[in-house]
Amino acid sequence: MVKVDIKYTKLFINNEWVDAVSKKTFPTINPQDETVITEVAEGDKADIDLAVQAAVKAFHRYSEWRLLDASQRGRLLLKLADLMERDAKYLGQLETLDNGKPVALATGEAAWSAQIIRYYAGKADKILGNTIPADGEVLSMTLKEPVGVCGQILPWNYPIPMFVWKIAPALAAGCTLVLKPAEQTPLTALALAALIKEAGFPAGVVNVVPGYGPTAGAALTSHPQVDKMAFTGSTEIGRVIMKGASDVNLKRVTLELGGKSPLVIFNDADVDEAAEIAHRACFANAGQCCVAGTRTYVQSGIYDKFIAKAAEIAKKRKVGNSWEDGIQQGPQIDSEMFNKVMGYINAGKKEGAKCLAGGDRLGTKGFFIQPTVFADVSDDMKIAREEIFGPVQSILKFETFEEVIDRANDSNYGLGAGVITNDVTTALAFVRHIRAGSVWVNTYEVVTPQTPFGGFRESGIGRELGEEGIQQYLENKTVSFSLPKKPRV
Ligand code: NAD
Repeated sequence: MVKVDIKYTKLFINNEWVDAVSKKTFPTINPQDETVITEVAEGDKADIDLAVQAAVKAFHRYSEWRLLDASQRGRLLLKLADLMERDAKYLGQLETLDNGKPVALATGEAAWSAQIIRYYAGKADKILGNTIPADGEVLSMTLKEPVGVCGQILPWNYPIPMFVWKIAPALAAGCTLVLKPAEQTPLTALALAALIKEAGFPAGVVNVVPGYGPTAGAALTSHPQVDKMAFTGSTEIGRVIMKGASDVNLKRVTLELGGKSPLVIFNDADVDEAAEIAHRACFANAGQCCVAGTRTYVQSGIYDKFIAKAAEIAKKRKVGNSWEDGIQQGPQIDSEMFNKVMGYINAGKKEGAKCLAGGDRLGTKGFFIQPTVFADVSDDMKIAREEIFGPVQSILKFETFEEVIDRANDSNYGLGAGVITNDVTTALAFVRHIRAGSVWVNTYEVVTPQTPFGGFRESGIGRELGEEGIQQYLENKTVSFSLPKKPRV
């Protein structure tokens, strides 16, 4: 294990490090060995209010931030991206400590996140409205303005990318914000807050308040001076956020929630290649991924060969100490998720699915679970319907295109979907009929700064990344001028 220097454990409000008003702290746990890493200041309603006041002040009409040229906002973001790259190794190590994911993955996520910041840095001075054709004696145009003070609540599965997906478009748009990281993974959010200060963002533009959901998260969601909420996490809490956001005012809301994404493999696919894609789609990030392709539909002609290959790959997956080279999978995030995933594995066994690989915990310490493959899964089983959020692949057999489209679409979710085939008409017909926010053809889970990401149905509202991502942080102001036919004087 690498010794990681933990520099920040307090709340970040108004560019200062402060204790919680209550003086309370909470422990953050190392998922690899279940020890307490450190205590972190525990924000609640009083701290959220202080942070919102700082964000409101930073958004006030003549503040430094409001008077800054759009291109200067872009420059600050570029500086932040440089600092993230400078510290990518440290950020990755801090993430491995707090989240448990393999250190090479965590470091890669930090470097990838810097690219997203650069993408939005370039957008800051390209926020354009329209001119509207004159109808009668009027000239109209639209101005795109920052939505205001934003509340942002993060999950624990990709703490660094999620931080960046939230703050970068908001800052490019000119908003100010209060961000609450997940209680399981507060450390990298605080390290990134320090970089925001170092980059030169004015006080109050970004505030980071660690704490628990029902206290800090709920206070942020229902705060009357917050104009917009952005949330990533479970569909269950997404509903809570939507309700809370309309309690005392009517906040704009973007939600990025759960999924049960289908990956459909047709008879003409190369079985070995398809099994590799399906494996990565399902097991990336220990299965703790909202778009994980967890329903693997395989056409009957290649089914037997496919399930044998899927099991073989899963058995070879390197699970263990996240500090070691070559490790592909670390532990689940905490005991609650560990128990939840084990509950699903037991349900799969009980309901009669065939367990071809894994099916148990790994070791006795830490939240490690064996990569688990179930075959002969039917659509009504829990492991085919509910989001597991762990390293569990459910393989289902199908016969025809029409049948599999209907079965794939038979879900309350609609986040991701994939198809593997060499026939272009099959691929295009799949793209046409599947109901999902991201569809991948002969690949899976390719997400770039430029491509909008989000879900149909109960997988969310709105989109992050790409042009759509910044639009969620903008209000439209329509301005109309009298356009006389000739001078009045
Ligand atoms: P969660 O939805 O409970 O937590 C996500 C965030 O919401 C955390 O920051 C949490 O503190 C906050 N939160 C919780 N209750 C809140 C409330 N009442 N008001 C405001 N904020 C609140 O997710 P979880 O408990 O960490 O994981 C549970 C399930 O969520 C997982 O099994 C998985 O299915 C799903 N999940 C999805 C994603 C995703 O990327 N879509 C990420 C993490 C978890």
